Amino acid sequence: MVNSAQERTLEERIAQVRQRIARAAESVGRDPSGVRLIAITKTHPVELAHAALAAGLQDLGENRVDELVAKSAEVAARWHLVGQLQRNKVRDVVGRATLIHSVDRRPLVDAIGRHAVAGGVVQDILVQVNVGDDPAKGGCRLAEVGELVSYAAGTPGLRVVGLMTVPPLPGAGSAPDDAARPLFRQLRALRDELHAQHPELVELSMGMTDDLESAVQEDATMVRIGSALFGSRQEGTR
Ligand SMILES: *Cc1c(COP(=O)(O)O)cnc(C)c1O
Repeated sequence: MVNSAQERTLEERIAQVRQRIARAAESVGRDPSGVRLIAITKTHPVELAHAALAAGLQDLGENRVDELVAKSAEVAARWHLVGQLQRNKVRDVVGRATLIHSVDRRPLVDAIGRHAVAGGVVQDILVQVNVGDDPAKGGCRLAEVGELVSYAAGTPGLRVVGLMTVPPLPGAGSAPDDAARPLFRQLRALRDELHAQHPELVELSMGMTDDLESAVQEDATMVRIGSALFGSRQEGTR
């Protein structure tokens, strides 16, 4: 088979990532099965999403709605939307994404709830938090999270199941894992606090290729991994 070398490579990469997750989890006494691996296929062709599924990955993610729509039509995985969402694209995502990770403002909550109710579904969402206060990143401010979670919890058609963050790029000379750790810790504390009032709010989506260890050690329940599985993306792409 033409593809076998490539597929073996993908399988090896998956095994490596799973091993990183397991080591990090075990270092803090966690069960590695409590960490869901979401493979981010953005910028890669749909064939790769097929290969990922064939290799045993069940959760795939995209950061653009149009790519999610196209690939989810062909590949029967659990699809996650991890990138910023525009209100006019909400209709395409609701019911199609297992989980929308990037809800960060009321108008999005309203639109998701409206389309979910109209479509007869309940859409699971995460509230994205800009823990690092990075102007280049989406997410609501730390101080606004509680209010947005309560608002979403009172909106029919959706269920807030957790929090998500993308930390800022680390400054020159600092390791991504170290730079991100205090931010992950803050998100975890916030999740624990909100969980007291919202029992269904349990998930923590944090950790990417360069900082998955600290994310898992700080209780991530979902890590979003692209380049460690699929290689680097083309220059100039997300
Ligand atoms: C691209 C992307 C990832 C994966 O990043 P890698 O560093 O390639 O693992 C995770 N989360 C979001 C929101 C992304 O856009």
